[in-house]
Amino acid sequence: MSFEQALQHLKSYFGYDSFRGGQEETIRHVLEGENVACIMPTGGGKSLCYQIPALILPGTTLVISPLISLMKDQVDALNQVGISATFINSSLTATEVNERLNEVKMGEYQLLYVAPERLESPAFLEQLRFLPIPLVAIDEAHCISQWGHDFRPSYLRIHQMIAQLEDQPTVVALTATATPQVREDICHSLNIDEEHTVITGFERKNLSFSVVKGEDRLSYIDRYVKQNEQESGIIYAATRKEVDHLYEHLQQNGVNVGRYHAGMNDQSRALEQERFLQDDVQVMIATSAFGMGIDKSNIRYVIHFQLPKNMESYYQEAGRAGRDGLDSECIVLYSPQDIRVQRYLIEQTTFHQNRQVQDLEKLQQMVNYCHTEGCLQAFILHYFGEEKPNRCGRCGNCRDDRTAVDVTIDAQKVLSCMIRMGERFGKTMIAQVLTGSKNKKVIDFNFHSLSTYGVMKEQSVKDVSNFIEYLISEQYIAVGQGQFPTLTVTNRGRDVLLGNEKVMRKEQVQVRQLVRDDELF
Ligand code: ADP
Repeated sequence: MSFEQALQHLKSYFGYDSFRGGQEETIRHVLEGENVACIMPTGGGKSLCYQIPALILPGTTLVISPLISLMKDQVDALNQVGISATFINSSLTATEVNERLNEVKMGEYQLLYVAPERLESPAFLEQLRFLPIPLVAIDEAHCISQWGHDFRPSYLRIHQMIAQLEDQPTVVALTATATPQVREDICHSLNIDEEHTVITGFERKNLSFSVVKGEDRLSYIDRYVKQNEQESGIIYAATRKEVDHLYEHLQQNGVNVGRYHAGMNDQSRALEQERFLQDDVQVMIATSAFGMGIDKSNIRYVIHFQLPKNMESYYQEAGRAGRDGLDSECIVLYSPQDIRVQRYLIEQTTFHQNRQVQDLEKLQQMVNYCHTEGCLQAFILHYFGEEKPNRCGRCGNCRDDRTAVDVTIDAQKVLSCMIRMGERFGKTMIAQVLTGSKNKKVIDFNFHSLSTYGVMKEQSVKDVSNFIEYLISEQYIAVGQGQFPTLTVTNRGRDVLLGNEKVMRKEQVQVRQLVRDDELF
């Protein structure tokens, strides 16, 4: 099987002249019959990595995808370019399923898409057993890992299913969101040699990231949407109620706006999505339910109205901007109150203790992202396991030309106060002691007699809290993930106390804090 064929198919079916980074290597592994994990950012071109081999290999490639609502679109798109593909999912009757399976047996399809839940059915597996399946492609493969952000138990059955097939197929696992731990789980579960992991750079050179703090969010949105009137954008909000609220607000201001959340019925969701894809609406206001697999290339901005719950979902959602390669913006509107909301959501929805701790840790990383003064793109790349990412030169922090000032002494005040308080408290309590608050709890613990009591009294509790967040984001302070997030001094923090490391921070400008608590729900 020559690679030449792959190039020919790329041109004749898809109209592209060359492969993108990672595609060729993945396809070569597949054609050699080697199991492979392919990790590329959203929009990187993962689909071709199994679609092209499916055209070359004899038999039917099985594609396991969790996105039932998109299967039809994917299959239609393939049929349109002359590739025979079909899907089997819960939208079909039993008779239709049997018909399709018979057609597969007759060799009528190059690709068959199924949802992972199908693999739970022994009857279905029995039917698959004798089909000529040379390749199994597992889309959104991070769902296999309990450490991922979207674990689905049925994914764990994939390897059993594969083991039951008469002829052992090659396996290609694809995902956009894989931290080193998730990568390991994917390889382990699907019997992929870790050396056969193809990872392309996660950097998106046309995206500029920024975090906006201390602004009134509604006014910010009004201004931004107006300034970008001709452009397409998505605004993500944390709750359905917030989506409705923003939707009505923008509509009243004459913006051509759509909305999407799980509380709407299937029909209106499909309609809104279609209007957005067709450029009939300019801005889509949505919860994270929107966007999986949406291939709209000209999205110029993605704004998060509230703090996203982790870096994985953030990069996936933000990554929907600029698929066409043109410059686009990804903005988080950050307010510290959001942390409370997200913590609450995690505590309410995650019952497994380990899982909860993990989700809280992921949330903390997201908060750190909002507080870092380093390059935001580099922060993301580092999170996803890139060793020494370069500064992007495009993000809000890289473009921030305020000078960095030496804040080592303030940092030492905070860190030594924490140690004196026994490293058993959270941010607010520490800030209260430093600012000399007469709060009852402070007095009850006798903290007003500490030598660090009131040493930052010229600052407000809020400013000191922000500074503590900054020290957390720079890893001078660690956050415990128990019910109450207690702060401890890290080794790096101890170096600061010993005078071995300097702490630098961009000069702080006075920012307006107009966000009301009731905006959050
Ligand atoms: P992913 O699944 O990684 O998010 P897709 O497979 O949907 O990405 O591909 C994203 C876009 O890139 C699609 O519009 C696809 O047609 C396009 N694309 C993929 N491979 C190439 C290529 N080699 N050259 C040009 N465009 C490509």
